[in-house]
Parts: sequence; C-alpha cells; structure tokens
Amino acid sequence: MKYIDEFRDGEIARTLAAKIHAEVRPDRQYAFMEFCGGHTHALSRYGVPALLPDNVKMIHGPGCPVCVLPIGRIDQAIGLAMNQKAIVCTYGDTMRVPASGGLSMQKAKARGADIRMVYSPLDALKIARQNPDREVVFFGIGFETTTPPTALAIQQAAKEELANFSVLCCHVLTPAAITHILQSPEVKQWGTVPLDGFVGPAHVSILIGSAPYEPFAEGERKPVVIAGFEPLDVMQAILMLIRQVNDGRHEVENEFTRAVTREGNAAAQKVVEEVFEHRESFEWRGLGEVADSALRIRPAYARWDAEQRFDLSYQPVPDHKQCECGAILRGVKRPTDCKLFGTVCTPENPMGSCMVSSEGACAAHYSYGRWRDIPVVTA
Ligand code: SF4
Repeated sequence: MKYIDEFRDGEIARTLAAKIHAEVRPDRQYAFMEFCGGHTHALSRYGVPALLPDNVKMIHGPGCPVCVLPIGRIDQAIGLAMNQKAIVCTYGDTMRVPASGGLSMQKAKARGADIRMVYSPLDALKIARQNPDREVVFFGIGFETTTPPTALAIQQAAKEELANFSVLCCHVLTPAAITHILQSPEVKQWGTVPLDGFVGPAHVSILIGSAPYEPFAEGERKPVVIAGFEPLDVMQAILMLIRQVNDGRHEVENEFTRAVTREGNAAAQKVVEEVFEHRESFEWRGLGEVADSALRIRPAYARWDAEQRFDLSYQPVPDHKQCECGAILRGVKRPTDCKLFGTVCTPENPMGSCMVSSEGACAAHYSYGRWRDIPVVTA
C-alpha cells in the first residue's frame, strides 16, 4: 500500500540502522523523547529500540490522548451521566480509563448510566437531534488532531440552535506540554538521563504545522524532528536528531514532509480559533497543572459548554497509589518499572490510563514487549 509498505521496508531499516550506528559518537549518551503515543506504538510494534546503539535511548512522552486525562475529568463526565441523567458520548478508548471509586465510563454504563461510544462528535449531534427531551453531552478529549471536529460540531449545534447539546471540553495543546516537561523540576534535576531532543508529533503537526515548535527549540536549545508514524519515519527522525546533536544544532526539522507543512491546516486552525480560547491552566495526568495547555469554549458559544450549562467545578483526584503512569508520562520511569505491570494491570484490566489505549506506553510494552529479545544490529 502506498505510503505504508515503503515505510516498513526491512532492507531500508537495516541501512538506516547502520547509518545510525556509524554516526553516533561512542563517547556520549543520546536520550530522545518521542512525545506522541503513535510513535511509542510504532517503536514497540516494530522493535526499533533493538536496532539502536546502546547509547541511544528512546523515552516515552505524554502524547497519548487518554493517558493524560486526569481522573477528575472522567469523574465529571460520569457524574453528568449518573447524576444529571444526560446521555454522555465519547470516543472508545476513553470509556475504559479508570476513574474514581473503581469506576470507568464503561463500568458506569454497566450500572445503568447512558454513556455511548461514538466515532465522531457529529454522531453525538445526531443523538441530540434524536433525543430532544434529553441532555446530550459530548466528552471532547485529545490533542490538536481531534479539536477541529469538536469545534465544527459546536458551530453546527449553534447553527441549528440545538438546545440539548453541549460539549465537556478537555482538549489539550501539545507545544505547552513539551515545554512543561523540560521545565519540570524532575527533568531539570534528572542529570543521569537528560533529554537531548524530541521526535515531534505526526498528526498534531499536520494541523498546527511545524512553526509552533520553533520558539521551544530555540528557547530550550533542543532539536525537534517531526516524524510520521511508520517505523522508517521514526528511524529517519532519530538519525536526524543524532546529526543535530552531533552538530550542536537545535532546529525544528520535518521528516514527515508528505503531510506536514510549516503553516499547517489554516482552515482547521480558523474553526478552532473561532470556537475555543486558551485556559489559564489545566491538569494533565502525570504532569499536574500545566499553564496555557488546554482549550475551553469561548463565551460566544457558552450555551454549548457543558461546564457552564451544568455549573461544573473541577476536583482533582489522586491516581491509584501504585500506578506509575505519572512518572512514565514524564519520561522518568518505564512501564516495566511498575510493580503492577502485566500482573494486576493488563489491557483487559487496566489500573492506570497508560494501559488503556494502544498508544499508551504500558499497553504498547505489554503488546509488543518481544522486541527486547531481538538481537541488536551493529554497523
Ligand atoms: S502498568 Fe498499569 S498501573 Fe502500572 S503504570 Fe502502567 S497503567 Fe499504571
């Protein structure tokens, strides 16, 4: 299949691995964070770490949409369904994220809450039209990739004057989170495994373009290489990062030129700008409160804002005591460092959010952990 097969070619992968081995300096360590869960998935699925030299380490970042959702936000959605008797609609993976009191949206549904899985916010609009006597809330989560469809749904609801539809907006922003990771005390003090650069998100960057990473790369003096989600994309990005580090450069480079431009998708950015504004602060699972890192609905669309409509206030809730998702999302620990990994916590019975989605670091390690047994390729 075009754009798939040629980016999974084993021969090219071996050539790229040989180049990486030839160009790394043996006298230094390289630590790169793949921000996006899609890259974590690709690394694990295709065994890319086994092809890298021992002194090149990949560290998982917080770019998995359901992994960063704090318990308090899921509790809000469940509360709307259980206490307000609203029909709450959301994407499939969100249904399984653990919430307070041993609940998840899926378990709340089993207890009678009217919670429905949808593929798009437009499905939620349809449900609202079909149920004029019920409140219908779309639980909008995710990064810049899923924000434009939510914005369009709100504009459509406004156009139709659909009075029983609203959105619980938990959309978050990528560049703010990348900056926050480097500025967090743990990472600043984390002298033994410093971060040398970032593999930048693929789908997010299609929307926002590569330009928003430029202030970060310049300000933090860290290279960013935006990469596609196929294994050769990620390997090429790692090679580009190694070259930047060796040259002492800290630029934004774009490996994913078949889809990402510097400016991004202007039409999608416009609709997002019309409907949403920045929140001063938002809690991320694992990162805590991050300034200017999420969106809320503008006052012009307040009628379709579930937080205002139901007068919701946010209550932070601590994670399961033994779950290491917070440390994993900051890149401080790996999934196998968690005592619950693969025993108490599995994809069938997730104890934390990182085990829910295939993009979550724990789920990716659990599903594709065999890469650890593949022999390392040398140049
Ligand atoms: S294995 Fe489960 S409990 Fe442990 S960090 Fe991952 S999601 Fe949390």
